[in-house]
Amino acid sequence: MKNQTQAYRGGVLHFNDDPAFAGDAYHWHEDGLLVVDGERIVAAGEHAQLAAMLPPGAVLHDLRGKLILPGFIDTHLHYPQSDMIASPAPGLLPWLETYTFPTERKFEEPEHAADVARFFLDELARSGTTTAMVYCTVHPQSVDAFFTESSARNLRMAAGKVMMDRNCPEFLRDTAEGGARDSEALIRRWHNKGRQMYALTPRFAPTSTEAQLALTGELARAYPDTFIQSHVAENTDEIAWVKTLYPEARSYLDVYDRYGLLRERAMYGHCIYLDDADRARMAETGTAAALCPTSNLFLGSGLFDFAAADAARVPLSLATDVGGGTSFSMLRTMNEIYKVARMGGTYLPALRMFYLATLGGARSMRLEGVVGNFMPGNEADFVVLDPQCTPLLARRTARSESLEELLFALALLGDDRTVAATYSAGRLLHSRSGATV
Ligand SMILES: [Zn+2]
Repeated sequence: MKNQTQAYRGGVLHFNDDPAFAGDAYHWHEDGLLVVDGERIVAAGEHAQLAAMLPPGAVLHDLRGKLILPGFIDTHLHYPQSDMIASPAPGLLPWLETYTFPTERKFEEPEHAADVARFFLDELARSGTTTAMVYCTVHPQSVDAFFTESSARNLRMAAGKVMMDRNCPEFLRDTAEGGARDSEALIRRWHNKGRQMYALTPRFAPTSTEAQLALTGELARAYPDTFIQSHVAENTDEIAWVKTLYPEARSYLDVYDRYGLLRERAMYGHCIYLDDADRARMAETGTAAALCPTSNLFLGSGLFDFAAADAARVPLSLATDVGGGTSFSMLRTMNEIYKVARMGGTYLPALRMFYLATLGGARSMRLEGVVGNFMPGNEADFVVLDPQCTPLLARRTARSESLEELLFALALLGDDRTVAATYSAGRLLHSRSGATV
C-alpha cells in the first residue's frame, strides 16, 4: 500500500554543520513545512514554497506556534538504571557498589528486563529522544529484552551487553571468552536488523582484564560497523585505579587505544580528565565524546573542558547518562552543559546545544545521512516542541527577539513538558496531549 504523504507546518529547524565552526550551519524556517512519506523525509523548507508542491491527498498537520526539530540523540545512558536514578552516594565508586550492581543483578530475569525496557523507551519518547546508545547489563537476555522492545517500536537504537570480568560482584561477572562469545551471538542476532545496531560494551577499563579488552578489539575489527561504548576519565579516584591496573598505559584513554578500541563509531562517556595527546588521538581516530553534565555534577566528577576539546576538534555529543545522570530530558541536559561550559570559561550558544543534541550525536555515531537532520531521504525521526508548555516558558518566549533567544529559553527552562510530540520513522510515538497531532 502506498503511504500517504504527511506534511507538518510549524517552525522548522535543523542543522547541516556545527555552528561553532561553520557560519552557515543551520536551516530555520519560521513558517516551515516538513514533508514525510512513509518512514522518510521528503523535504523541509518554507511552507509557502513546499505547500504548493504537495501531492493530492497529502495530510496537513497544523503545528503553527510550535517547533519541529530532528529527534534528540542521547549518546550515553544505562537502561537498567532507570529504577535507581536519583540514588544518593558520595561519588562514583560507592554509587556503583551500593546501587548499580544490585540493581543490574535483577536483569537475569527476562520479564524484569522487558518491563524496565518498556518504561525506559516510553520515557525516552516523552523526552523527545529517538536514538540512543544504551548500556544493558552483563546478561545477554537484557539485550534481547531491549532490542525486542525497541524493534517493536521501530526505533533506531544502539545497545550492547556489558562486558565485565573482574573487580565486580561474582553475580555480574562474565569471562573474557564468554563475554566475547555472547557479544558475537548478539551481533549476529540484532546488528542491522531493522533499525537496531549493536554496541560492544566493555563497562570501563577497571572491570575488564587485558584478555577481555583484547578480545573486544578483535570483535571491533571483525565487525567494523558495530559501535563501541565505554567510560573514560570520569573521576580522579577511577583514574588512579586504572593507573595501578594498567601501569604500562600512557593514559586512561591509551588503555583502550592499545586494544584497538579507538575508531569511528567508538563513543566514550565523560572524557573529563584527558590531556592534549588523548584529545588529538580521539580526533584522528574519529572517536567521539559523550558529554554527561547532569551525571558529572551529581556525582561530583568534574567539568568537561570545551575549549580544549574544540581546539583538538574532538567529535562531541550530548548524553544524559541515566542513572548517574539525573534526567532523561535532553533539554535539562542542555541546561547543565551550558553551566558546565560557563564554569570553564566557554560560552555555549543555544544553537550549538541543539546541534549537539541532534546532528552532533548523529555525526559522532557516523549516522549522518540516516538521522540527525531533515535532509531528503533521512529517516523521519522528529520532535515537536511547544514554547508555551508552561506559564513561565510562554511568558518568556513571547518576548524572544531572535531564534537564539527562543532556543535558549527552551534549553534553560524546558523539560519533558516541552515535548508536544515525538515521531519515529514517520510514526507518532508520543503525544503529550494524547491527541494524534
Ligand atoms: Zn555511564
